[in-house]
Amino acid sequence: MIVLSAAFGIMGAKLYSLQVVQGAGFVAQAQRNRLARVSIAAPRGVVLDRRGNTLVTTRAAHAVSVVPALLPSARKQKPERERLMKTLGFLLHIPAQSIEDTLAREKKRGSRPFDPVQIATDLDMKAVARLVENRPRLDNAVLLTDDLRRFYPNGDSAGHVLGFTQIASDADVERAAQHKTVLHADDHVGKSGIERFYDRFLQGQRGEQLFEVDARSRPVAVRGRTPERPGGTVQLSLDLKLQRAAETALSSARNTGAVVAIDTRNGEVLALASRPGFDPNTFSLTGKQYREAYLRIANDPKKPMVFRAVNSRFPPGSTFKPFVAAAGLESGAVSTGSTVNCPGYFMMGRKFGCWQRHGAGVNLSTALAKSCDVYFYHLGLKLGNPETTGPTYLAKMAREFGLGSKTGIDLPSDEAGLIPDPAWRKRFNARRPDQQRWFPGNTLNMSIGQGDVLVTPLQMAIATAAIANGGTRWTPHLVTKIFDLNRKLVQRAVPHGERVGVSANNLAIVRQGMRTVVTNGTGKACNLPQVAVAGKTGSAEDVHNALPHSWWVCYAPADKPRIAIAVIVENSGHGSENALPVARAVLNAAFPIPASMKAKMKGKE
Ligand SMILES: [Zn+2]
Repeated sequence: MIVLSAAFGIMGAKLYSLQVVQGAGFVAQAQRNRLARVSIAAPRGVVLDRRGNTLVTTRAAHAVSVVPALLPSARKQKPERERLMKTLGFLLHIPAQSIEDTLAREKKRGSRPFDPVQIATDLDMKAVARLVENRPRLDNAVLLTDDLRRFYPNGDSAGHVLGFTQIASDADVERAAQHKTVLHADDHVGKSGIERFYDRFLQGQRGEQLFEVDARSRPVAVRGRTPERPGGTVQLSLDLKLQRAAETALSSARNTGAVVAIDTRNGEVLALASRPGFDPNTFSLTGKQYREAYLRIANDPKKPMVFRAVNSRFPPGSTFKPFVAAAGLESGAVSTGSTVNCPGYFMMGRKFGCWQRHGAGVNLSTALAKSCDVYFYHLGLKLGNPETTGPTYLAKMAREFGLGSKTGIDLPSDEAGLIPDPAWRKRFNARRPDQQRWFPGNTLNMSIGQGDVLVTPLQMAIATAAIANGGTRWTPHLVTKIFDLNRKLVQRAVPHGERVGVSANNLAIVRQGMRTVVTNGTGKACNLPQVAVAGKTGSAEDVHNALPHSWWVCYAPADKPRIAIAVIVENSGHGSENALPVARAVLNAAFPIPASMKAKMKGKE
């Protein structure tokens, strides 16, 4: 008698293994025997944060699979097969026909007769017990297996960054076939985030077990085994501590939004948060549980699947001013000594307002500190002809800082945003000749980060870092190291930066102004005792909503920057009071208050 003893045995970490007990009849039949290959799934690799905290791993779920080659024949043993399907369907609470449908689909996809086809997964212990009790009524073709499912131990933390996996679709299988790799019925592929971008490193290599089978397709001996190879380990620059601080602060802010924190010295992304978020574990659920959870996310009007930090574009408002200041200094249009008078508005055909009356003698430093629009209107007009060369130059400088173009971050998608200029306006309105002209008023709007200027929070962090670090625009990156299963380093990220066309001296002037914003301007809420911060507030008009977006960009320490942060809280009202506390929470996590300082602060109370 030859039996598959592994049926209903739960096999450790491996998908499953078939053991064969050799029977007396084996030798006589040997000549008619042939070989069958059974593919074995390999676990996907893990994802770690910069300190080695696990962000993504794999857990084993109880599943039921069917080996098509061992089933009663659909033609010759129709009644037996129908009875088996009915029993199995009854035990799993699924229609018998859906089992046949799954088998047919996998056959069509090219799975081989001995490849187990997964019928149900994530079974609870009750279901497992039901199957074990009914074992005599089932067939050797039915196996209780381990299904390796993705697990995100931190729930919705960094969900957008990590992404999720799903069972390979027909399109995935076809694409894999073109690259001469085979995806199986129960293979998961990365569908977004790091899971997708680094899929080829995370995806393990399937193993194979070779069986000798007799004329009736029953396995009689194991003839070889190619072990499966788990996927590699991907280490991110992300700091879970900062990520959580950003998410917690953002969740308690007035509205949805995003936070980006990067290392100003190399472009490593330290935090990339977007709220609302979603829990990628949702995509590891199955059946009704999955459908319900997924619909909750998909139907949420706040669109939690949208990765606002990277894929949403917003007008930068006054956070654009440091770059306008850099352009003004570099072109020679203004110097530290140039001053303007702000009566609270500027006349250019119509009234262009300032949010306050700043009075006479507003210089660049004060203009940044108090966020005076009138100063920047004047500056914008001085950059050249306000209908042609001026805005063209300003656009060129803004682009040098990486604003208005894709950052090249290692994620599947990255919104470009827009830095407009007269040439763009002409192109954009090719079919509307009356809209093609660039007016001086467009230059005024652009000079305060409004009009058609659109950026992503990630771009603002990169651009702010370039001011902080003395002029290097980094290509932001999330993955720093990739290890193979033997912990051997196979890939290491090399920071890539380009110089922006602004002198070190002029950047130093802008930095001095940004420091004044915190010590004596609109950014006082980030004037921290333990670290010197420099930054710029912003309040950006949103054409779709009465309430403007609240922005804050900053870097620290002011004299020797290590971190740059961009925060946006959408439609939360005028001023930056909604964005500043979010950055403060991240800064406090990055620069904890020393115990001695804490004691002193307590003493003062
Ligand atoms: Zn003003």
